[in-house]
Amino acid sequence: MVTVSLVITLALSAVFLGMAIRTRQLISEENVVRARSLFNSIILAREWNAHYGGVFVEKKAGVSSNPYLRNPDIRTSDGKTYTKRNPALMTREISELAARKGLFTFHITSLKPLNPANTADAFEQSALKNFETGSAEQFMTDRAGGALFRYMAPLFVERPCLQCHEHQGYRIGDVRGGISVSFDVQDVAAKIRNNTLAIIFFSFLTILSLLGLIYYFSMRLIKKMYEARRHIERLATIDGLTGVFNRRHLVSRFVVEFARGRRHKKPLGCIILDLDRFKNVNDTHGHLTGDKVLKEVALRLSTSVRDYDILGRYGGEEFLVVLPETGVAECTRLAERIRSVIKEQPIEGITVTASLGATVSSDRDETIDDMVKRADDALYRAKDEGRDRVIFTSPA
Ligand code: GH3
Ligand code: MG
Ligand code: MG
Repeated sequence: MVTVSLVITLALSAVFLGMAIRTRQLISEENVVRARSLFNSIILAREWNAHYGGVFVEKKAGVSSNPYLRNPDIRTSDGKTYTKRNPALMTREISELAARKGLFTFHITSLKPLNPANTADAFEQSALKNFETGSAEQFMTDRAGGALFRYMAPLFVERPCLQCHEHQGYRIGDVRGGISVSFDVQDVAAKIRNNTLAIIFFSFLTILSLLGLIYYFSMRLIKKMYEARRHIERLATIDGLTGVFNRRHLVSRFVVEFARGRRHKKPLGCIILDLDRFKNVNDTHGHLTGDKVLKEVALRLSTSVRDYDILGRYGGEEFLVVLPETGVAECTRLAERIRSVIKEQPIEGITVTASLGATVSSDRDETIDDMVKRADDALYRAKDEGRDRVIFTSPA
């Protein structure tokens, strides 16, 4: 039972651990999908911008020119000034706007940035190095001060980029840098935590209930087996009709008591009882009545003998009682009591009598057979002398 419980606990723990890990993976894959789509949308906007070679916005108050461009401003004939927003500046401004709104941040960066504000941080630097050796994307969850999901993919040099970056030695197709996308995943982290807690709780409950069930059914099985064993033992030792010991068990107990009496030098009594003219009972009243008489005789015998006496059915309508630590006087007295108890009240309307042969053990007895023979002789004499009596035979 302990082994089965252990195996079940281990197997279920493994299943639930697998479930918890898989859920974590799914949720983290979801972050990657979200980051990719944000990355792609900014790339689209940049491509749109680059397609027109940068777009011009009116230079109102608060709008400054891009210091990294050679001639960013143009003045129109109506006196207004327009300044150029190239992909890099547009990316930074959208990123600042998104950050102000608490949505996410973009960071355009490279290992050789034109703008010092675009210098790569540790994650970005390591990602950029990996892009140069062919990696397509990098991501991680930064847990310093919360949970920030960080994603980065490379930017490749395309024709429009060369306008600004050709002097750095880039050629079309080179990894020029990358854009990192970051967003807060505290909520998601909390969900993962709650989910893990729920799985732990659920697995605990399941394992506990299963172990409880195993324990319950094992206990029931053990109880049933114990009862079955007792039943089998009973069948092996008890006489089916009368409920007293059967001959086999009676004899084995007699042997044990005989040895014990000899060891402790204590007398052992033995009484054999045979019902008188029992054939007549069967012939006159039928076998079923005969059986009822036998049962009642056995019941009366068992209430007449002492707790430590051993009573059994020795033959058809013969019973034998073994009386530990019992001398001649007590043995005869008990035999007389048995005789009168059987005779006193009619059974099934029939007055039943019995003849009894009694004896006690002697040093010269070698086995119980010597005692049985003496008791049997006494019984024979009781029958011979007119039945319904006790005859005691002393050892020679
Ligand atoms: P007596 O002993 O006084 O000499 O006469 P008896 O009629 O009792 O003679 P005997 O001991 O030879 O007969 C025993 C009878 O007990 C024979 C048999 O029909 C009956 N008997 C033995 N076992 C059973 C039993 O289990 N049920 C019933 N109904 N009768 C049994
Ligand atoms: Mg008989
Ligand atoms: Mg008889």
